Amino acid sequence: MSNSFLKSPTPINEPVKSYAPKTPERALITATYDDLFSKEIHIPMKIGGEEVDSSQTNTMHPPHDHKQLLGTYSLASESHVEQAIAAALEARKSWVTMPFAARAAVFLKAAELIAGPYRYIINASTMIAQSKTVHQAEIDAACEFIDFLRFNVRFAEEIYQDQPTSSGGVWNHVHYRPLEGFIYAVSPFNFTAIAGNLSAAPALMGNTIVWKPSDHQMFSAKVIMDVFEEAGLPKGVINMINGDPEMVTNTILKSPDFAGIHFTGSTQVFKNIWEKIGSNIHNYKTYPRIVGETGGKDYIVVHNSAEVTEVVTAIVRGAFEFQGQKCSAASRVYLPKSKSKVILDQMVRDIKTITLGSPRELKNFMTSVIHKGSFDRLSAAIEQAKKDSDVEVLVGGTYDDSKGYFIDPTVLVTTNPKYDTMERELFGPLVTVYIYEDKQWEDTLKLVDSTSEYALTGAIMVKDRIVIEEARIALENSAGNFYINDKPSGAVVGQQPFGGARGSGTNDKAGSKQNLLRWVSPQLVKETLNPPTNYRYPYMDE
Ligand code: NAD
Repeated sequence: MSNSFLKSPTPINEPVKSYAPKTPERALITATYDDLFSKEIHIPMKIGGEEVDSSQTNTMHPPHDHKQLLGTYSLASESHVEQAIAAALEARKSWVTMPFAARAAVFLKAAELIAGPYRYIINASTMIAQSKTVHQAEIDAACEFIDFLRFNVRFAEEIYQDQPTSSGGVWNHVHYRPLEGFIYAVSPFNFTAIAGNLSAAPALMGNTIVWKPSDHQMFSAKVIMDVFEEAGLPKGVINMINGDPEMVTNTILKSPDFAGIHFTGSTQVFKNIWEKIGSNIHNYKTYPRIVGETGGKDYIVVHNSAEVTEVVTAIVRGAFEFQGQKCSAASRVYLPKSKSKVILDQMVRDIKTITLGSPRELKNFMTSVIHKGSFDRLSAAIEQAKKDSDVEVLVGGTYDDSKGYFIDPTVLVTTNPKYDTMERELFGPLVTVYIYEDKQWEDTLKLVDSTSEYALTGAIMVKDRIVIEEARIALENSAGNFYINDKPSGAVVGQQPFGGARGSGTNDKAGSKQNLLRWVSPQLVKETLNPPTNYRYPYMDE
């Protein structure tokens, strides 16, 4: 046993590999992609460290090639969910007593594995499962995940070091206890890093987890579990199950040991879960922690002092990278009339050069959207826009699902600032532009603030410093992550902790100390070194 206070390695952001022609990583990623794409696998549940199968399975298909079969995964019944809860509670007994350095070492080792031997496997499986280009897979599955794992160790260390002062004869200390019970992690399809971090962050703080990945990320979810296992994570600390989301969630929320949820996904699903937690509140041993990062309707608002090419680049990258399926993707844009024509003309020219297709072809900037539900939602919105008189399709508006769920990058221009696609999260490569009169700048900021129920990310494009400060104040509550002269997406762990308020979530900032604090319940211990021996106080003397 060590009595030393250990200091964790100083985290630095994982360098992003370029995958440019002739680089070694380019050859490695294409070979790994081809290998994973061509063989069928089966993914069992992982309960208490054991592979568990059921008679019910789902199939997996790449969204950009939906007839290709990648394999199957097992679906949980209610009894599997109960087994996963029991396994998490059993594993908790030894995990909570393990020294922090030992827990941290597991996740630091996982980061090394992803940076090294698993890099191409986790990236290629993300390209295949979620239709990400190699660059989008690299910044997510490899780099962001590695950053979460390494930076969280340092943030946890800072939390544990945060201790109260002690006056004479007294020693005060705070113990950052894991929550009493188990944590339910529910992850979305769109980020492999988020899927891993939703379990890893509470587990690092000594909690044990039942994790339900998205059906549309299972292929890369398996790689996450493989990495954790190879890193030495004890059995049962993270248990992976999938199945009907309602049934899994209802079974979890019935347990008196449910101690918290770490959720990322859509707003409506999170609100429903919150409501269910509320109606079960009398059954729980403790008040559950509810942490959720949810939807967005992220904006770019452009002032007439902004530089045109910077604006165009921010919109094209912000709206169309990963097919607009980032919670932070720009989906509503406000342009000043005086510059709108030149900006829109240049945007259309750029968008017409965008290539769309399989992520296996590295020249592509965009691939397909995630599933038929998403394809149908987006194509319906486009068809509606073609009929409505207060909006026009400037570019795009075409789609094809014969091989994969492909939606061409689409720009709508509306005369109605409250048009449906200015307010509703569509989660795809569709951006709506509203053109305002230059002299209406202040009113436009009010409009931006009041248009949607969300407050996740937003950007202003402007040169004038006074205007920047005015806009920052006017838009203070409209975004949890606010960008000046940049696209509103691409947050980096350790640099831009991420999360939004209003309908966008509890703003507990993934990849930060604030988030980790949600997974501990501090116990204050006051130790009196020189206890009093007489109940009387001096003022009572004659
Ligand atoms: P989703 O809400 O459809 O699914 C998220 C998770 O919830 C999945 O695991 C899903 O199986 C589960 N789920 C679905 N219905 C459920 C139900 N009735 N009860 C319990 N669980 C249920 O979201 P998605 O399509 O996977 O991801 C896209 C959404 O996630 C977007 O709204 C996006 O903005 C949001 N998102 C937010 C952030 C953020 O940091 N704010 C990050 C990524 C994604």
